[in-house]
Amino acid sequence: MAHLGAPFLFCGNRWLRRPFNTTIMRSIWRYLWPLPWTLLGLVIALAARAVGAHWHVRHGVLEVHGSLLAAGCRRLPSPMRFEAITLGHVVLSIDAACLEAVRAHERVHVRQYERWGPLFVPAYLVLSIWQWARGRHAYLDNPFEREAYALAPCGSPAQGVQPAAGNDKVMVE
Ligand SMILES: [Zn+2]
Repeated sequence: MAHLGAPFLFCGNRWLRRPFNTTIMRSIWRYLWPLPWTLLGLVIALAARAVGAHWHVRHGVLEVHGSLLAAGCRRLPSPMRFEAITLGHVVLSIDAACLEAVRAHERVHVRQYERWGPLFVPAYLVLSIWQWARGRHAYLDNPFEREAYALAPCGSPAQGVQPAAGNDKVMVE
């Protein structure tokens, strides 16, 4: 008799190696690989929560909006101002309406974090600088943003949300 979770199963009259559960491992890895950025997002989320921000978990992503986030974003210099930003599995937004508008776009960034892990932000910045150095738009021509706008046109510039140069964020100025 084999215990559940044991690496071997008694089947028929012989022991068989239990198939490695790649689905579970892949799910764990999806959260571990971008964990450094998720932790940064959690620190900001906790600070925002302490002064009244709202948060909830939706499809495995912590979404935070309001309070400190809106006030803090308004104080940023214009090129850095944003309405929503994704850090690993944390999405920070200035308010609920904005969060609703850009949710699909930010989910694409979550998937990008899952693929690139801790390398996502450095890769994003390098690509933005590369586009800017070639005379292109650092934000709109960034391949990560192009993918996000292609897969989730909601919140795109054509629909009224005006992105500006920066990193992994949908911005309104
Ligand atoms: Zn974006």
